[in-house]
Amino acid sequence: MEPILGMRFASLEQLKHSLINYGVANGYQLWYKRNDCRQLQVMCGRDVSKGLCAGGHLKRKKKGVNGEKVDVKKRGRAKLMRKAKAKVVKGKKYKCRSKPIDGCPFRLYASWMQSEYSFQIKTLIKDHNCSRQFDLGSLVTYKWITIQCLPMIIENPTISYRNMRSEIKRNYLINVSLGECIRAKQIALFKHEGGLKEHYSRLWDYKDALLKSNPDSTVKIDVDQGATCKGELLTAMGRDANNHIYPIAWDVVGVENKDNWCWFIASLAEDLDLGNGEFLTIISDGQKGLIEAVNMCLSGAEHRQ
Ligand SMILES: [Zn+2]
Repeated sequence: MEPILGMRFASLEQLKHSLINYGVANGYQLWYKRNDCRQLQVMCGRDVSKGLCAGGHLKRKKKGVNGEKVDVKKRGRAKLMRKAKAKVVKGKKYKCRSKPIDGCPFRLYASWMQSEYSFQIKTLIKDHNCSRQFDLGSLVTYKWITIQCLPMIIENPTISYRNMRSEIKRNYLINVSLGECIRAKQIALFKHEGGLKEHYSRLWDYKDALLKSNPDSTVKIDVDQGATCKGELLTAMGRDANNHIYPIAWDVVGVENKDNWCWFIASLAEDLDLGNGEFLTIISDGQKGLIEAVNMCLSGAEHRQ
């Protein structure tokens, strides 16, 4: 997404998201000189290696990376520069420059439109003379990482933060911090599980659909809140007159045990009116708890494994 003069956005967040994509795609170290609810002023190129974060404020920084004072002198000089606008300070002449000599000329200014509810790019100098950067500082936020990495995290929820960081570096050619990866993964998983909850909340709709397409069936749903998403499938299959197998009933339970088999066999006996299972042959593989369940619920049936 390249910014274009006059381009309109629904919100400030939307513009920022497109600027992050633009910065990441080309390795531009964009930073926000002004960033409030009314306006956004974007510049390019800030020396992160000197401890200046791409989104930080120059004036607030008092110490450099190693703790040495860096900006006191600069600030003193800036003051002199301001005085120099009057051209003469104590008889000396100072030249006043509006931007650093080797800085990148890129500038973008955007604010709300007066006539409609859109955020518009009103000033744009698109030229860059900077080289590709790999540390984009605070331009790349954990929210952006969440959006980009969501499919990767859902596919592999146990991915380590270090692997995530190296994947991001491989795909986007940028360095991000482990802290950003941690937050992004937490939020991605939270969002995904929120989605799963929505899916499970539609179980009752699924029940209605089953009954509609298979009238006179029996559908029972039990809710166990806080249970894990794992489940095991219990099935009862029959053999018809043509010696073909067809499913009679199936059941998803949390774990395969005697209690669940008992419930399943008892429900089946009740639904098909099997009584105590006389004149019935049950063939099963030796599953946990199944033999006891058959002996208990269908005591009259022949049972072979
Ligand atoms: Zn630039």
